[in-house]
Amino acid sequence: MPALSPSLTDITGGGSDGWEVFMRARKMIADGTPVTELTIGEHDIRTDPSILAAMDAAARGGHTGYAMVPGITALRAEVARRVQERTGTPTSIENVMITPGGQSALFAAHLAACPKGAKALFIDPYYATYPGTLRAIGAIATPIKTQAEDGFQPRAADIDAAAHGAASLLINSPNNPTGVVYTRAALEGIAEVCKRHDLWLISDEVYDTQIWQGAHISPRTLDGMAERTLVIGSMSKSHAMTGSRVGWIVGPREAIAHLTNLATHTTYGVAGFVQDAALFALKQGRSFEQKIGAPFKRRRALSVDILAEQNVVKMIPADGAMYVMLDIRATGLSGDAFANRLLDARHIAVMPGESFGRAAAGHIRVAMTIDDAAYAKALRALCAFAATLCE
Ligand code: PMP
Repeated sequence: MPALSPSLTDITGGGSDGWEVFMRARKMIADGTPVTELTIGEHDIRTDPSILAAMDAAARGGHTGYAMVPGITALRAEVARRVQERTGTPTSIENVMITPGGQSALFAAHLAACPKGAKALFIDPYYATYPGTLRAIGAIATPIKTQAEDGFQPRAADIDAAAHGAASLLINSPNNPTGVVYTRAALEGIAEVCKRHDLWLISDEVYDTQIWQGAHISPRTLDGMAERTLVIGSMSKSHAMTGSRVGWIVGPREAIAHLTNLATHTTYGVAGFVQDAALFALKQGRSFEQKIGAPFKRRRALSVDILAEQNVVKMIPADGAMYVMLDIRATGLSGDAFANRLLDARHIAVMPGESFGRAAAGHIRVAMTIDDAAYAKALRALCAFAATLCE
């Protein structure tokens, strides 16, 4: 075989990709050992039957041909209306492109914002695919560490110090893996740095409907930011439609026009019947989104109560999303060692904090994605295991 291009082979950057515990858990399950899996950010429910019915009706009604590349007009209009209603920032159909999920939107947005060889900044801890996405577009993936002691809120001064030679900054609030929701002050600091250094801000807001405390602020609403912000949205988390692969980019018209050009030469759009289903789902409004988020809200409250029963494991205040980040540094183990030993000793699989960057070392990410009783049992077992390490 001829050599594969480094554009492809350099994406993963070599070395550990942080998924070893997950793969080991899957192998144990395949070999017949039951494992409680708290690893993956996916709901324990499937896509609602009413959404599937809308998808089925659209497909059988003939919406199976090529759909318009930037998205069907009705869905773009609905996304624009929803964004404007929720943020107050004027948004029209020309500001919206529908994408095959948030993941491809992240790739496209960085291709739009970041010339080859420029620095693409992102906040550590981060969603595990970020560095690979940035490397895939030829940027120099540059993490900016946050501190557990700051509740993982980014500091503007740290971003400012790294901004020379950068073209973009990627942020994610509510955050995966930490569940942290960025404060207005943190976002205002970020906006100032972006303006000062003429950076694009890529704001990954795929968890924007999952807020358990406080409020979600889209940085696109901040003064002077609409013209330099690309917002990443998705139906995956808000509507339990992970497999449907439908999301969007909201940004300046000119950027969306060029991004449409990119889509014409790469994805050629999103299946029409999937877009019809997404439109149906969005039209169900906030109460539907609350229903999808309710289990995580309940389990987060459960986590607070269970963590309060002991003092070895500490919980980073999780204000949103479907994860809790736990500080296990009192055990003296790294997140990686703890996760591996927990899997062996108690058959519970969690993600080591190190899978999400250096800032989350000594932490583990617990996905609240199993039913309440099993979740509570697993979390208690995890805390009991941590206590044995301190004896
Ligand atoms: N951003 C974040 C922070 C995520 O956690 C995920 C999925 N785990 C995505 C983007 C991508 O989601 P999707 O492609 O399903 O929209």
